[in-house]
Amino acid sequence: MVESKIFKAIQAARAYSLETDEAIKIFIRNELPFSVRESYGGNTACVEIINEKEYILCDAGTGLRDFGNHYMKAKMSGHKNLPNVFNIFISHLHWDHIQGFPFFTPAYIPGNRINVYGFHEALEQVFVNQQNAPCFPVPLQAMKADISFHIMETDRKYDIAGIKVSGIKQHHPGDSYGYCFLKDGKKVIYSTDSEHKETAIDENYRFIDFFKNADLLIFDAQYNFLDSVDAKENWGHSSNILGVELAVRAGVKQLCLFHNEHTFDDEALDHFLNDTQKYLKIMDDQSNMKIHLAYDDFTIEI
Ligand SMILES: [Zn+2]
Ligand SMILES: [Zn+2]
Repeated sequence: MVESKIFKAIQAARAYSLETDEAIKIFIRNELPFSVRESYGGNTACVEIINEKEYILCDAGTGLRDFGNHYMKAKMSGHKNLPNVFNIFISHLHWDHIQGFPFFTPAYIPGNRINVYGFHEALEQVFVNQQNAPCFPVPLQAMKADISFHIMETDRKYDIAGIKVSGIKQHHPGDSYGYCFLKDGKKVIYSTDSEHKETAIDENYRFIDFFKNADLLIFDAQYNFLDSVDAKENWGHSSNILGVELAVRAGVKQLCLFHNEHTFDDEALDHFLNDTQKYLKIMDDQSNMKIHLAYDDFTIEI
């Protein structure tokens, strides 16, 4: 993939006289598509909601390893006053949402506190099991941070680290849960691994209310529309098209397509995003909603 990116970049550069370093930088930034100059990356689900007090994270996929490494780097380089409490909200217990935890360095540091929240009764047991022999050399009990597990309920609202948090049950094999985070009038929804069935067209569809006026909706759009209604129906994921439709109906300001299809390369993902943006124009050409496609280390301001 890297070789083909270099090839495409040099090919595109033929038309330019790039005599200074600055000209090269501008060319890269302005003339090369994202799929050539960067990469969407391959980490599994982990999102940080930046908060000034304690850390707020959604899911513990492989992205958690990168997050932990960034934290350790900042700590080593002498950053004072970094929070030492990590609140991790787990959508469900499939591997791709928990497998970063054994590699989360802050969990090995005494004095750190890690609260793992979720709706599945088996939450703690599954975290213990994934680190038991013969799957991993270090058992969960050997991690030196103070780690605790908290089971939540969907009919309750919680106040955690200054943020109001609530959840919704989603259609997915073994169930999954979406989260709503509210603070200072801003609303973020994390809704991954969620399939929407025929009831999604109902006027009073419960997710419309849950997504209502969100500043940011992080939405499971693993599939394109055809796959979601045909070959991959009942696999527990949703599509870019349904994401746009639900987001527009709910008055969402920014939509981030999430849980990228793992068989798509960077170029296919670029097309996927372009198609989704085109669909929004066809559906509602007055809409100001911004559409993003998640990639490793991407930050969205709300
Ligand atoms: Zn899943
Ligand atoms: Zn998943």
